[in-house]
Amino acid sequence: MKQDIPALSPASRAAPLIDPFARPISYLRVSVTDRCDFRCVYCMSENMTFLPKKELLTLEELDRMCSSFISLGVEKLRITGGEPLVRRDIMTFFNSMSRHLESGALKELTLTTNGSQLARFADQLYAAGVRRVNISLDTLDEQKFADITRWGRLPQVLKGIEAAKRAGLRVKINTVALKGFNEDELFALAEWCEAEDMDLTFIEVMPMGDIGNEDRIDQYWPLKDLRARLAERYTLKDLAHRTGGPARYVELEETGQQIGFITPLTHNFCESCNRVRLTCTGELFMCLGQEDNADLRAPLRAHPDDDAPLEEAIREAIARKPKGHDFDYSRQDVAGKVSRHMSHTGG
Ligand code: SAM
Ligand code: SF4
Repeated sequence: MKQDIPALSPASRAAPLIDPFARPISYLRVSVTDRCDFRCVYCMSENMTFLPKKELLTLEELDRMCSSFISLGVEKLRITGGEPLVRRDIMTFFNSMSRHLESGALKELTLTTNGSQLARFADQLYAAGVRRVNISLDTLDEQKFADITRWGRLPQVLKGIEAAKRAGLRVKINTVALKGFNEDELFALAEWCEAEDMDLTFIEVMPMGDIGNEDRIDQYWPLKDLRARLAERYTLKDLAHRTGGPARYVELEETGQQIGFITPLTHNFCESCNRVRLTCTGELFMCLGQEDNADLRAPLRAHPDDDAPLEEAIREAIARKPKGHDFDYSRQDVAGKVSRHMSHTGG
């Protein structure tokens, strides 16, 4: 596939995508599958119904879709899911996207993964041009890991993390802050990341999708509380630097370690949002926390040899990107929740 499809040079690009609030859209997150080999309790119910395979964009369609976004100014692509590395032949897609890195049109190709398949894929990902991976891990305790992921096994993920580092990938650990679950591991997780030279970001649990009997309020550990706990042991310094994403960083003055916080609930980060999300069926969500979306699969499939209608549909969608989400736990009830799962939109 790599040889047949022309690469885009930065010079061949159309006018960039700018939303109604003057935010340039340069970052696309793509969910390549809604399936997963884990069933994390905050993300999925145990008995999930997945989409029929024919609903999914094929790898070639995903390529066309991403290439159109890149031609419209997207410079960063994050591949996610579900678990992106369980999609069959997914390396074909990564290898194909690497042509946009080589041309300079794409600045970064990256992924978010649960790490279970990294022992197998880390070297191939590096060869395709991936340099950083986000790996989700909420506990270092084997039994708790099995409990929270239902189907996951910690040793397999730790092997995946090792393989990623050996391959030369920079690793960031993403940890969902969960009340009564990993509160007692805050320092152990921070020290482990520091010792292993990995970045660490904590995320507040978001009200997305039906997760069976689990209760969102029970799970929610506000990051302001986590931060206060951290401050009992370390002197915290807020850092001004941002990475263009929603994370805010603090430095632990005693060790120099930097820790990220993604706080959609206690602090809204929408004003600088530069991203949109494509589902594995070709719906474009302009905001993670809103239901409005645009069907990009229809123009893609209706015009197999002409990208203009697809690009027009992308522009129309960006023109209605909302100002922000409405998640709110402040009234001891979950307000602003959205019905779809994170694994559908791509976390
Ligand atoms: N399977 C991959 C993984 O777990 O990294 C990629 C997809 S997963 C949906 C992406 C991220 O979303 C993970 O870090 C996961 O912890 C997070 N996540 C899932 N459901 C969430 C929720 N309701 N609130 C906050 N984060 C969530
Ligand atoms: Fe799978 Fe990731 Fe959701 Fe866990 S968070 S169930 S690993 S998609």
